[in-house]
Amino acid sequence: MKITLRMIILAISITVLTATPLTLHATDAYTTQESTRPTGRRRNLPPEPPPAGVDPTRPMIALTFDDGPGRHTAQILDVLEAHNSRATFFVMGDSITYFYETIERMHENGFEVAGHSWNHPELTLLTNEEIRHHIIGPHDRIESVIGPTTQIFRAPFGATNDRVLRVAREAGFALIGWSVDPRDWELRDAREVTRNVLQYSRDGSIVVLHDIHMTTAQSMERAVPKLVERGYQLVTVSELFYYRGIALNPGQIHRSAPPRN
Ligand code: ZN
Repeated sequence: MKITLRMIILAISITVLTATPLTLHATDAYTTQESTRPTGRRRNLPPEPPPAGVDPTRPMIALTFDDGPGRHTAQILDVLEAHNSRATFFVMGDSITYFYETIERMHENGFEVAGHSWNHPELTLLTNEEIRHHIIGPHDRIESVIGPTTQIFRAPFGATNDRVLRVAREAGFALIGWSVDPRDWELRDAREVTRNVLQYSRDGSIVVLHDIHMTTAQSMERAVPKLVERGYQLVTVSELFYYRGIALNPGQIHRSAPPRN
């Protein structure tokens, strides 16, 4: 059989496309209830968010979605947009090429897009230079699509150590953890995920979810309207911290914002 250049390119494309989901270990099992304390310092506040009808005196929650974009992301955007809500998406650098339009849509509708590494390695096992590559690279790729954006990052598996934090600090990135893990990556059951989201989310929570699962998208169909009905404003991570007057300091992990009072 004659192997043409076209066949080789096709084979490489298929390898890349099929290999990508295998690297998306949706097992961010690291979890904590620890809160970020207000530092009193106001440096590195995110830029003032565009007017989005947020009332700072009312409770707010930051839903976050990791490991995408994927084929269920649009369904999640649909339901959030229908309820005048936003969220932060921590995307895989390797997936950006295939989802330019999705990322543009997120940006145009006020969602926040940030990096979650190129392909989900555990950063604590990498060299400093490799860690930099996974923090800065996807961010630059995102900015090439939507323009300048906040320097926040979520570590794969939430796995960090002093070295990862130091590299992040030197690169100027704040790390975003979470205070609520509804375990959508493990349960894969829309009703259970919905129940966990509704039971554990409260004012100031950062909720970790994964937009690569159909069951997570299905869960949002019910959880989002219910949270809104309960009076929560669904905002991006940067909006949450902005409205609470807390700096997103480079090299620090932010896991939630304090409640209003
Ligand atoms: Zn992840």
